[in-house]
Amino acid sequence: METVTLGPFETNCYIVADGDRCWIIDASFEPEALIERVRDLGLKPEALILTHAHVDHIAGVDEVVRTFGPLPVVMHADEREWLANPMLNLSAAMGLPVTACGPDRFIAEGDRLTLGGQTWKVLHTPGHSPGGVSLVNSEAGIALVGDTLFAGSIGRTDFPGSDFESLAHSIRAKLYTLPDDTRVYPGHGPPTTIGREKRTNPFVLP
Ligand SMILES: [Zn+2]
Ligand SMILES: [Zn+2]
Repeated sequence: METVTLGPFETNCYIVADGDRCWIIDASFEPEALIERVRDLGLKPEALILTHAHVDHIAGVDEVVRTFGPLPVVMHADEREWLANPMLNLSAAMGLPVTACGPDRFIAEGDRLTLGGQTWKVLHTPGHSPGGVSLVNSEAGIALVGDTLFAGSIGRTDFPGSDFESLAHSIRAKLYTLPDDTRVYPGHGPPTTIGREKRTNPFVLP
């Protein structure tokens, strides 16, 4: 797995690979570096999966799909309208309306996604946004959590559609129950582990 950090919000976009197949997780502003990295690694993208549909995670979707398409854009159904709606994806509030193609496929709590020989489980982790998802590879001990949980912090809950109580529940019931040594890769900032956040995160206690 590789991290490519893109755009003015320093959004972490991830390339998850098994053999020569990969997924791209989120596509932010100015996705050229992400596209170049996928090409340099000689990977063939099978899906573009969105942890959620805020502008800083979708602004590069069209360019990535144009480059590697046909490429299904995969996300939780609770944000199905957001790609086409700058009010909902918060880009209108920035004065720079962004839309993106898709969605083509939906994922939901408990789904198991296969990439090569790897299995990833989908957790619905709403709160920062209603359709937020986390992807967990138990065998590798990795969780991609979008903007749900950060190293020493949590996703903002002051946006329309955000809700602190559901965010706290997502973190406590779904992320903090993963093994302590699970490595956590958030949508912004450095990676952490479940154990470390349970011990030190001041915003949501176990
Ligand atoms: Zn967000
Ligand atoms: Zn974000």
